[in-house]
Amino acid sequence: MFKAVLLGEAGVGKSSIFLRLKENVFGERLQPTVGIESCSKVVRIDNQTITLSIWDTAGVERFKTITRNYYRNTHAVFLVFSCDNPSSLHYLSQWADDCSRHAPKALKFLIGNKTDLERLIPVENIDNFAAGFECEDTYFMSAKTGAGVDESFQRIGERLMDVFNTPLIVESHYNESIEITKFQPSRSGCCQ
Ligand code: GDP
Ligand code: MG
Repeated sequence: MFKAVLLGEAGVGKSSIFLRLKENVFGERLQPTVGIESCSKVVRIDNQTITLSIWDTAGVERFKTITRNYYRNTHAVFLVFSCDNPSSLHYLSQWADDCSRHAPKALKFLIGNKTDLERLIPVENIDNFAAGFECEDTYFMSAKTGAGVDESFQRIGERLMDVFNTPLIVESHYNESIEITKFQPSRSGCCQ
């Protein structure tokens, strides 16, 4: 199991991505999240199964009060911006700094959401951000249509398997420990 947290400005679609992963639906009038929520996304890689435990911010990003607890034992952070909103990429630098401080070992994945809308951010700016903040990769998706969601999380799961190949204990927000499945690393692709 890998713990992953969603980060980014309010309105970029974090909770919509979360809901798409959790229930495969899109709620146009999604209420701001109340209370920290996590859901599981199972990814199959070859003959193995991994679970991504994905956490949403509970809307507290509005008040810049993400706590250190949110980052605890995090393997991956999803830095989400909205493709139709250049300032959402700009502000993401604060979140990237925040997670470098609180979760220095976590892998950063850049996610451009709302690809169903007009893309208003030059590709060059996105690439520069990814390089500047040492993001593993950039993924594009639409929580609304579902386009790109499964493919992206499949590739993210594969990347996590490649990098973290030892069993790790993940704590939930209630501090009970979650059983960890020991698995063999699977190295596929061209970068071995
Ligand atoms: P959060 O504040 O980052 O959790 O963002 P929400 O998930 O609450 O979404 C903010 C707004 O963007 C809502 O009105 C959503 O319906 C809308 N939204 C989220 N994802 C998409 C998407 O992929 N495409 C479009 N067109 N709208 C989206
Ligand atoms: Mg939200």
